[in-house]
Amino acid sequence: MEIKKGVAVSPGISIGKCLVIDAEDYRIPRRLIQASQRFTETQRVRNAFRDAIEELTQLQGKQKEIEGQKIRDIFAVHLSFLRDRTLRKKITDLVHDESVTAEFAVSKTLRDIASHFAKEKDVYIRERAADIFDMEHRVLGHLLGGKRQDIQQLNEEAVIVARELSPTQTAGFNKEYVKGIATGSGGRTSHTAIVARSLGIPAVVALEDITDSVTAGDTVIIDGNRGIVIINPDDTTIQQYLEYAVEFAELEHRLDAIRGKPAKTRDDVRVMLFGNIEFPDEAELVLQRGGEGIGLYRTEFLFLNRDTEPTEQEHYEAYARTVGVFKSKPVIIRTVDLGADKYTQSRRYMREPNPFLGLRSIRFCLQNLTMFKTQLRAIMRASVLGQVKIMFPLITNLQELMQAKMILGDVMEDLDEEGIKHNRDIEVGIMVETPSAALTASMLARDVDFFSIGTNDLTQYTLAVDRGNELVSTLYSSVDPAVIRLIRTVIQDAHKAQVDVSVCGEMASEPESVMLLLGLGIRKLSIASPMIPEIKQIIRSVTIVECNKVARKVLGMNSERQISSFLRDAARKILPEAF
Ligand code: PEP
Ligand code: MG
Repeated sequence: MEIKKGVAVSPGISIGKCLVIDAEDYRIPRRLIQASQRFTETQRVRNAFRDAIEELTQLQGKQKEIEGQKIRDIFAVHLSFLRDRTLRKKITDLVHDESVTAEFAVSKTLRDIASHFAKEKDVYIRERAADIFDMEHRVLGHLLGGKRQDIQQLNEEAVIVARELSPTQTAGFNKEYVKGIATGSGGRTSHTAIVARSLGIPAVVALEDITDSVTAGDTVIIDGNRGIVIINPDDTTIQQYLEYAVEFAELEHRLDAIRGKPAKTRDDVRVMLFGNIEFPDEAELVLQRGGEGIGLYRTEFLFLNRDTEPTEQEHYEAYARTVGVFKSKPVIIRTVDLGADKYTQSRRYMREPNPFLGLRSIRFCLQNLTMFKTQLRAIMRASVLGQVKIMFPLITNLQELMQAKMILGDVMEDLDEEGIKHNRDIEVGIMVETPSAALTASMLARDVDFFSIGTNDLTQYTLAVDRGNELVSTLYSSVDPAVIRLIRTVIQDAHKAQVDVSVCGEMASEPESVMLLLGLGIRKLSIASPMIPEIKQIIRSVTIVECNKVARKVLGMNSERQISSFLRDAARKILPEAF
């Protein structure tokens, strides 16, 4: 039995046989071979290239009948790469000179070329990086053959153990079979963690070298409440966990009983609880768990897990479905927040040196107006179906906001001209998730209807700590005095300007932080649906007077450690079962 401690990101307990995913996209670890194996390995490289060429030629033949010139050209480029003898020699030389496996040599050589292409200024050459990754995939597919473990085609229950999972991979999991997730990388607010929470799959991240400690088929316990993973537990531990899982399920059941009751403090202050969603299917879950609308719809997930970008009609249908669930209740649709850890089809392989500081989110939209307008048109068409609001992410200054609003204005004019109905008075808000937006909230407030504080990014950018990097996860905290001060500023400026303000980052779903947020003046929270009952229970157990006292005390503290332990104790008194 081996116990590993990581970061708890999605509550619940699961016990099951594990499936090990080495890493995203068949990334291959460096493994050395014996000198005597070099010949066989170089032969494997040659065979894999031969099979890939054959496969591609067949595909090209089929495509000829149904597709146009463009696809034929792409195949031709891939084929010429695959037939390039110098490239193949480079790979076989690597096997020979460094005694590495065929898989490693193929992956390393092709990835080196791809990253070289990706750095080029010329767009055409940059785009070729995607072709090289595609070829890497194809050749590795032949090398690995049946050894590859395909999680999308899982047909029995498993606990997934991986070095790293992308939000796209996680979003594609079938909840029926994936019972738990343990990853080496990641942090509490990484998008993979957020997706696991939305899907209700217990998950622990930041387990460092977890993939080296397990073998496919091992029994693994995932304790998503305490951030613990136990590999090959003994019978007593399994028994204890089975009992704990029952207790946890009972708590959930008890919380279910307050579903229909309002989120109101003991001294009668009403708090609104909304849900965060990534997919329209989740809207129903938010409603079932007592959510009063959608406070954050992360629409970029429409782009993930597919080969082409969504059309206006596909956007519209997703929004219409969501609005249909809530009818006249608010649905805040956030425009796409792509980049950083979520990429479009065409940018998937063109990683930036500092993606979280790069062409992300509203910046990406403002440089890709066709895509942006397609989405805005769909949102505006859906705006007549209920109480739809638009929210722009990652605003860092007034100019960006004005630009985004101007484009929205253009879209409305186009729709007017085409006679397509839309709500001209739609509320427009922004995510306050950069320190610059927080510090200029009083200026931005004049041009918005609402603010939603995105504590995940606000914490990342304020503390200069990558939210998904396990190496610095202990430095990442939304209750750091600096973050709390920025949140307070935004709330005060919003109140002064009479602009609505809510919190939609993960901090809003942390039982320890709720009293603080209420004490700072927040009355609207947007959280992952599984957390709604628990957060409501906390709200119903406190008074605003107590919360104000908590906030005052916290504002007088000067260390994150002191604040988090104080908040934990305060929340533990209110809902001991949650800890
Ligand atoms: C945030 O940054 O707090 C937020 C809610 O947005 P996301 O997690 O999607 O970046
Ligand atoms: Mg964000």
